[in-house]
Amino acid sequence: MVSLGCPKALVDSERILTKLRSDGYGLSPDYAGADVVLVNTCGFLDSAKEESLEAIGEAIAENGRVIVTGCMGNEADVIRARFPNVLAVTGPHQYEAVVGAVHEAAPPVPSPFVDLVPEGGLKLTPRHYSYLKISEGCNHRCSFCIIPSIRGDLASRRPDAVLREAEKLVAAGTRELLVISQDTSAYGVDLRHKAWPWKGGEVRAHMTDLARELGRLGAWVRLHYVYPYPHVDQVIPLMADGLVLPYLDIPFQHAAPSVLKAMKRPANEAKVLERLRTWREICPDIAIRSSFVVGFPGETEADFQYLLDWLDEAQLDRVGAFRFEPVEGAAANALPGAVPEAVKEERYARIMEKTAAISAAKLQARIGRTLDVIIDLVDDDGGATGRSKADAPEIDGEVQLRDTAGLKPGDIVPVLIEDADDHDLFGVPLQAA
Ligand code: SF4
Repeated sequence: MVSLGCPKALVDSERILTKLRSDGYGLSPDYAGADVVLVNTCGFLDSAKEESLEAIGEAIAENGRVIVTGCMGNEADVIRARFPNVLAVTGPHQYEAVVGAVHEAAPPVPSPFVDLVPEGGLKLTPRHYSYLKISEGCNHRCSFCIIPSIRGDLASRRPDAVLREAEKLVAAGTRELLVISQDTSAYGVDLRHKAWPWKGGEVRAHMTDLARELGRLGAWVRLHYVYPYPHVDQVIPLMADGLVLPYLDIPFQHAAPSVLKAMKRPANEAKVLERLRTWREICPDIAIRSSFVVGFPGETEADFQYLLDWLDEAQLDRVGAFRFEPVEGAAANALPGAVPEAVKEERYARIMEKTAAISAAKLQARIGRTLDVIIDLVDDDGGATGRSKADAPEIDGEVQLRDTAGLKPGDIVPVLIEDADDHDLFGVPLQAA
């Protein structure tokens, strides 16, 4: 490691080295003993840039296998023009990318200590599904939410880093990737949707590109927290083609225009129902999940009725409802028209009743069909629990199987649906039918 620049760059170098050490790498005291040389550059002044370029030149002359990171990484063209044979160039604070480049240039040697950590890291979810976080923070300022003040503005991960993590998870047994963020449809806006090299081509920091490449890894890909911006239309054909699960989790939160305005919701446009219709024409099996808040300050009976009528039209597959709670620090707390608790309860009961009826009717229509089901749990008493493509773990319904037929968690099998209730399906795996 050749570390140049200010104390901030030094701390970055320490972080990179700490991670590499925990991956089993050692530090070499000289060029000759190193499998690869990392140069953490400074690009603040022209003189600092020149010093960085000289350091890269020296490392290439002395060792030949060089990865460049740090502030000058933002000027990859300049570096590559002068040193076309550098192995990789990454920018400041791109720890994952630097570490990934080192892994590629000098694959870690298996070690009984390091290998205590399984491929894909330690997980709190079962082996067969994994959450994949693509960004942190949010550029919106919904009046009931304090996430932007806690986590800051949108900061997207590089698409190649996300894909590398997804690849590792799939290699380690993940069969379903659940893409999460605060606003998945805004992914890459902060990176100006820049493209990065990926598998001989390019991948843009954009929801559509990322979804397509994730779909090629062979696992189920489920998109959460998507807002109905116009470009979301581009992922629907990926669903129709089977690359991404026909499932969208869109937290609408309300439907009445005045409430949405008070909530300051993004993508608050009147044409949502029309878009849902178009999506269903392209991909008839698409399942839409959403969540709603009832009893938001200022919500009138007419607003609430508007929401119920909208739900009748929208025919959403899965709905979660919440009674409004003032979160400390949220702007919505100061809004006039607080809704009494008893009214909130009554509206909550009404929306639950409405959405359960819609769900029940939709699930009845699945009886007699054969659906792919991913197995979550095999019981001791000969049954199993799984989920169809329309069900995310923990939040949606389940498919109860009356015969396990030698299944194990993570298997994906065709299931004949025999019965349904308000939220769950019941069936039998086809090989056991
Ligand atoms: S509710 Fe979601 S979109 Fe709105 S500010 Fe919070 S995180 Fe962002």
